[in-house]
Amino acid sequence: MRISITYDYELFFGDITGSVENCIIRPTEDLIELGKRTGAKFTFFVDVGYLKKLKEYPELDQDLQIVSNQISELIRLGHACELHIHPHWEDSFYENGKWHMVVDRYKLSDFETENAEKIIEEYYNILLETSGVKPTCYRAGGWCLQPFRYEKIFQKLNLKLDSTSFNGGQNRAGNYYYDFTDLPKKESWQFSNDFCNEDKSGKIIEIPIASQKYSPLFFWKLFVLGRLNPEAHKPIGNGYPMPSPGLRKEMLTKGKLLCSSVDGYFVTKLEKSLKEYTSRNWRKLVFIGHPKANTKFALKELEKFILKHQKKHSFVTLPSLINEES
Ligand SMILES: [Zn+2]
Repeated sequence: MRISITYDYELFFGDITGSVENCIIRPTEDLIELGKRTGAKFTFFVDVGYLKKLKEYPELDQDLQIVSNQISELIRLGHACELHIHPHWEDSFYENGKWHMVVDRYKLSDFETENAEKIIEEYYNILLETSGVKPTCYRAGGWCLQPFRYEKIFQKLNLKLDSTSFNGGQNRAGNYYYDFTDLPKKESWQFSNDFCNEDKSGKIIEIPIASQKYSPLFFWKLFVLGRLNPEAHKPIGNGYPMPSPGLRKEMLTKGKLLCSSVDGYFVTKLEKSLKEYTSRNWRKLVFIGHPKANTKFALKELEKFILKHQKKHSFVTLPSLINEES
């Protein structure tokens, strides 16, 4: 199995976004060290709207420099830095020492298609300029990429792989919209104008993020551990997510189908996805994570997971999966 651990490299988008040091730089340094110890290569989906906005404020030049330097270091170490777009940065601003997130236009589909294409191209170029490497992979911010109207611009920029979807996922609350309840039951497929549907003549490949149902008990444990042992279980990032109405209640009463994640206590369920994929003879597995949501516990458990499985499976970047025969 080729396992790709991917991290969305970004601040929080709630009222408090957290600091660049705590949400991005320090937790990514921990991952760099983990990569050095284990040989695993990671993929970082860089929230390029943040870079664009940093460039607009001279007083934030130092933040821009430390993020740019870290992206260069990630590339130098053989990790991948790929394109992640949260277009609400277009409307967001920095004032009185903090970011103000304006999330009314949270998804690309909230923009005219022509403007959305411009955003994709502009952000692609900013990332290319920063990392020195042409991005080939895409993940939509907040998993929101429907309806998909971007085949033309993906092809123009040679974006070959999307990893936005996850089987069974669905969210229509607040500013979110995605529906992945009817994906092909495959590890990957080609698509053209709808990444949720296979088109064998399509030029873009979809590799969904692994997903699984987490029980209410799981979420109770997650919340209780955070209270009882914050040193191990409290995320390193010091911000708050964009509100997702009703989510917490749903988690604690019904459980929830979510991406298979390396964040925090979710790391304890990686084995479950690996077993499931192995039993289907699938050979590509994508996990998601966020530096901002990393915990000491998760780092330790992830290292154990990688060391345990690296003889049989390899931990590789997402772009390296593009030309694989399945
Ligand atoms: Zn994101």
